[in-house]
Amino acid sequence: MLEESYPDAQCGLEAEKDPFKLLVMAVLSAQTTDKIVNKVAKTLFIRFPTPESIAYSEPGELKQEIRSIGLYNSKSKNLRLACRRLVEVYGSVLPSDMDELLTLAGVGRKVANLIRGDLFGLGGIVADTHCIRICGRLGFVESKNPIVVERTMDALIPKEAQSDFCHRIVLFGREICNAKKPLCERCFLKEYCCYIKSS
Ligand code: SF4
Repeated sequence: MLEESYPDAQCGLEAEKDPFKLLVMAVLSAQTTDKIVNKVAKTLFIRFPTPESIAYSEPGELKQEIRSIGLYNSKSKNLRLACRRLVEVYGSVLPSDMDELLTLAGVGRKVANLIRGDLFGLGGIVADTHCIRICGRLGFVESKNPIVVERTMDALIPKEAQSDFCHRIVLFGREICNAKKPLCERCFLKEYCCYIKSS
């Protein structure tokens, strides 16, 4: 049903399937909106077009460029470290292995799953705020712990459908099942939803 409503689900980050861009934008997207990240990215990648350009930038240079994004201090520090490791350990080629991705500063399971799914076709549940909230409301998982949500949904959804599922959940979360006031009356999932039955 999600697929019918959102047949063309895409990642909200406009990274053009470029591994370096997706890594940077996904790290920047923590606790901010895709819209803000997309806006900043337009000028950011003109000034920093490669992993090397971030890795060996002067301290403060990158920070200046991403000042309009929340947590810009820690994000700029993480990105310089992540890009340095990407260049020096991986020859500027983003790895697909989960454990290797997790060694890059600023990359947690959420970002790693996004990268593995969108770039490498390996699937992965991106347990972000929309995924946690909606999978909980629909009754698939009670816990709000991202790892529990990831593992639970991973067991329920075939690998090849996981990335699209996560992108669709984000769109559904923004349009219908939003955090503060879900639009249950016009929701196409209402007859299956635990939240509406208990409220
Ligand atoms: S019925 Fe309401 S709570 Fe349930 S999925 Fe739809 S919008 Fe969300």
